[in-house]
Amino acid sequence: GIGIAADRGMTTLPRFVGEAPDASTHKFSRGMVLVRAGPMPGAAGLAAAAALRAGAGYVVLSGAARAPFSAVIAEDGEGYAGRLDDARLGAVVVGPGYPAGAALDRDVKAALASGKPLVLDAAAIASALPKLGGMTAILTPHEGEFARAFPDFGGSKIERARAAAEQSGAVVICKGADTIVAAPDGRVAAAWPGCPWLATAGTGDVLAGACGAMLAHGRDPFDAAVAAVGWHIVRAQAIGPGLVADDLIRD
Ligand code: AMP
Ligand code: MG
Repeated sequence: GIGIAADRGMTTLPRFVGEAPDASTHKFSRGMVLVRAGPMPGAAGLAAAAALRAGAGYVVLSGAARAPFSAVIAEDGEGYAGRLDDARLGAVVVGPGYPAGAALDRDVKAALASGKPLVLDAAAIASALPKLGGMTAILTPHEGEFARAFPDFGGSKIERARAAAEQSGAVVICKGADTIVAAPDGRVAAAWPGCPWLATAGTGDVLAGACGAMLAHGRDPFDAAVAAVGWHIVRAQAIGPGLVADDLIRD
């Protein structure tokens, strides 16, 4: 069936949509996220900061010189393979600020080989698709990225999202003014209304990072995607007019 993940009632949700920590919690139990930066490290930085803000306990930004927050571990790209091997790692985010090409394909391949839950955004979606079978993954395409990755699907946005999820075996978040989340088992959620102030650079990178945090918490990928979409819209509504992507990661 179709669940409505966000409607006017969403505005009454708390700004934090995630697991509340308790006495037994420590930073690694809240989830460790690895964000792989490409040639535009600011976008990956937004994703890393969002992962931390959305409740991941520990965030590593691989391939970027500058950390968006003091607590984000920014390091050169040499350690990427070693980070992927870390048993504590709960999710890997690849795609923000990373155009298609051989470097992206190599980094996506390594992420797939790690077997970790993945968030694939932007050009990383089409790069990973042929090898995605059986992986736990969330794909976060906007309309253009969706059309590139799934050129054969027509119909309504819900129908296309469902078909993409079924074909890829991944949870697909079809972004835009109306955001549709579809799972391979047929579950669908629609976020409506969204927050049109999100139509600005970098907000998609923030969503990808939030997906990483929600996955690293150990959620089912559909629930993780819905939680991230809700978190994103609730924060955006709280900021409102003039929102820029950095506002979504500040407090
Ligand atoms: P991206 O296209 O990757 O930069 O992601 C943009 C983000 O903003 C996604 O989360 C979209 O769902 C959201 N967004 C873009 N345009 C609109 C709009 N007109 N109304 C509501 N949300 C939007
Ligand atoms: Mg984007």
